Amino acid sequence: MSTETEAPAEAAGDTALIAALIAAAHDTITAHRDELSELDRAIGDGDHGHNMARGFDAVAAAADEITALPFGKALAKAGTTLVMKVGGASGPLYGSALMAAGKVRDEAPTTLAEVVELLDAAVDAVKKRGKSDVGAKTMLDVLVPVADALRAGPAEPLGTARESAAAALEATRDMVATKGRAAFLGERSAGHLDPGARSSTLLIDAVSAVLEKS
Ligand code: ADP
Ligand code: MG
Repeated sequence: MSTETEAPAEAAGDTALIAALIAAAHDTITAHRDELSELDRAIGDGDHGHNMARGFDAVAAAADEITALPFGKALAKAGTTLVMKVGGASGPLYGSALMAAGKVRDEAPTTLAEVVELLDAAVDAVKKRGKSDVGAKTMLDVLVPVADALRAGPAEPLGTARESAAAALEATRDMVATKGRAAFLGERSAGHLDPGARSSTLLIDAVSAVLEKS
């Protein structure tokens, strides 16, 4: 038992926030599991919903352990859980994103600039791990526009995050994939939303909904 008495109120606040984020992410991935796999069936191998659900089931199952950690370490732990539990490309990509974001700061972000810092770290990790960038028809085509929209310092950040994610997702429809399995289809990958861009949109909506209430 620790005898330390540092920042009990803040720690308790982060615990509730982390629990809410895990529940919201798990709920939306579970609810949209079939839709994500359906999108992946069109331009991939049809397992994106399964992969994401497997990963977020494991994160939710470890919720007690994760919520007991400081915010940064909780992100990192959720990230390593995704890397370990998800077989598809998306697990290591989202996992690296969370692990990198978790390294930025110990406590939960309290300003928009701090949120952007976490997003930037996440984006950089996906780019590095995926050897990819915007325009390749991947999750980055949602994550980067959302980070950029928030960097501009909008008056209503949560609404801006949701709207920019929705518009960016829709913009993946006409893109030709040059990374991931969809790249094997070449031009035939155009005309379909990217599944990872859709899961990123779902996660951004889920986080926004939690922050709206907190
Ligand atoms: P897999 O392709 O191994 O079956 P998933 O179906 O779970 O994995 O995830 C596919 C999604 O992962 C894609 O829709 C895309 O958004 C994302 N993705 C795949 N490869 C990359 C990459 N190199 N960089 C960024 N994102 C990628
Ligand atoms: Mg797949």
